[in-house]
Amino acid sequence: MDELKPFFSKSMVLMAAIAAISTIIMGTFLPTLILSGGIVEASGKSPEIVLASLGVQEAMKIRLEGFTKAIAQKQTDKENQFNFAVTPEFQGNTLYEVALDDSEKAIALTFDDGPWPIYTEQVLDILKEQDIKATFFLIGQHLKNHPEIAQKVVEAGHALGNHTWSHQYHNVPREIAAQEIENTAALIYEKTGCNTKWFRPPGGVLTNGLNDYALSQNYAVAMWSSDARESFFSSSGALVNNVLNSAKPGGIVLLHDGGGDRTATVQALPIIINELKQRGYKFVTLPELLELYEQHKQSSLAENTTNPTPVPDGID
Ligand SMILES: [Zn+2]
Repeated sequence: MDELKPFFSKSMVLMAAIAAISTIIMGTFLPTLILSGGIVEASGKSPEIVLASLGVQEAMKIRLEGFTKAIAQKQTDKENQFNFAVTPEFQGNTLYEVALDDSEKAIALTFDDGPWPIYTEQVLDILKEQDIKATFFLIGQHLKNHPEIAQKVVEAGHALGNHTWSHQYHNVPREIAAQEIENTAALIYEKTGCNTKWFRPPGGVLTNGLNDYALSQNYAVAMWSSDARESFFSSSGALVNNVLNSAKPGGIVLLHDGGGDRTATVQALPIIINELKQRGYKFVTLPELLELYEQHKQSSLAENTTNPTPVPDGID
């Protein structure tokens, strides 16, 4: 039996392959790049027409511009991930919540006194499962003991704040206040690469010198509008009620992931999140809460600046 001769020669196949690849590149890849460069949008013409009117060199230039833009955006995202800044209005100011209304139901969960073994990671697991972000106020000496847990917090995309080195309630002289806050800030940077301008005073005490120092350094002092009121005796049900009864758009919720047994908090957290989701809330970090507030203000829907409310009872 005669061997069948290949219908196409090798060179024909090669030519066809080159032609096909070229078509794919010219038909799909370059118009996409041009689209990403915004030229099509600006011209109002179809990608093919725009492509035809440009030389390959020009197309390559646009491609490079697209890449540069993408890299710059990535850089900004990265910087935001490690830089928890405060908008000018709140630098050196104290806030309990921001003014948002029902059209923007955003709320910020905050966790104090970590990083702490077991509980911080349980909280992280819940937040991951719920696909939401929060803010963690770290204590310097706890960070020193468990830097790897803080690194997990940052890797998961949450924001960090400064909760002093040793969580003092009593009056401290200015130089001690400076050490408490600056040493914590330095360790946060050393261990996580993050800079934060968010501060939460231990116990919510605003008069012992720590807070004054933080304000003088342009930190935003984050108090809260909802307190879970975690105590040694509180059940998870009580924590759920405490948060849900006081939740509001623009609110800041005080919770704890460290400093002791946080089993009740870990039990309460999914219930709190699910119920607030049911009510239409989205969850944001504190820097994101300020961004939303700025947008809200600019769209002239917001009424005023902060709404100072009295310090809630209970300690944090
Ligand atoms: Zn605390």
